[in-house]
Amino acid sequence: MDIKFERYHLQSDLRSPLKGFETVSVPTEVRIDPLNKRKSRIITLGLPSQDKFDFSQMAEESKGCFFCPENVFSKTPQFLEEIAPEGRISIGRAVGFPNLNPVGTYGSVVVLCQEHFLNLNQFTPEIYEEGLSVAIEIIRRTTAFDSDARYWQISQNFLLPGGSSILHPHLQVIGDPIPTNEMEWLLDSGSSYHKENGTFYWNDLIQIEKGLGKRYITNIGSVQWFASFAPIGFNEVCGSVEGHESVTTLNQEEIASLAKGIVSTLKYYYEKNLSSFNFSIYSISGEPSYQLLMRIISRTPIQPYYLNDCTSYEVLQSELTSNIFPEELCREIRPYFT
Ligand SMILES: [Zn+2]
Repeated sequence: MDIKFERYHLQSDLRSPLKGFETVSVPTEVRIDPLNKRKSRIITLGLPSQDKFDFSQMAEESKGCFFCPENVFSKTPQFLEEIAPEGRISIGRAVGFPNLNPVGTYGSVVVLCQEHFLNLNQFTPEIYEEGLSVAIEIIRRTTAFDSDARYWQISQNFLLPGGSSILHPHLQVIGDPIPTNEMEWLLDSGSSYHKENGTFYWNDLIQIEKGLGKRYITNIGSVQWFASFAPIGFNEVCGSVEGHESVTTLNQEEIASLAKGIVSTLKYYYEKNLSSFNFSIYSISGEPSYQLLMRIISRTPIQPYYLNDCTSYEVLQSELTSNIFPEELCREIRPYFT
């Protein structure tokens, strides 16, 4: 196996007004992803920390939305008869239905709970287990209807900085006959690795990370949790599931393990006064050299005057940034996974 952890230490010297104009050195690190060679930039000067935001007014003003219990079974779209003759798919509190504004061939929404708003410390493993179960059932039924739809994501955009205009917690389930850029990169580099080594990249990486002990968080059941060496977002936590390329083959215990890891990560974010996040599960069928992966990242906390965390670096230089060293994140987040 050939997994290299390459990095560049950069340093900027300046005379700082914060230190009486003494010369100070500010380090930055550029890391190369061992799998796809993509560069990430770890910026060590953080933004001033915010207090926890009070969401009560925002939640009060927006409640009674299309996802609230009084509307979700009457005002949301229904699936085609061939996919779900009952119209919408429900498990426990979670309700799935087609997205009125899909961004691809198959776009669905899964409303996670009856509550219009939850703080990050109020999500439970049961909420995510039910939500993921509905998402997976949508994917199973849709692929039985259209086997060309092999490329799926189960994602969450939480709050305005995460790209969601609706406060009510929900997942996005999106499937297409073509992969997204990220899926293609994962697939191409993972296949090349498999061809050269005869093993799965993520399994080999986990073995190495376990030995190093710096970025490996823990396993919950068959899901291995770790901080990436070269993160593509703030506070990035990854979960890899051995033995699966698609979510459609996960058993209930494996779904529950993913749910627990999500909730552990959100509890850590809450303690750090973060409120907004994104996650994606990358699920691909018919690619035996692929291994199921999920990523969770935090976004800038919501605040009265919005600050976007995507600068020209991310949107025009295609170089993604993080404001915490993965090794520090791993140390801090481990207790939340116990
Ligand atoms: Zn609502």
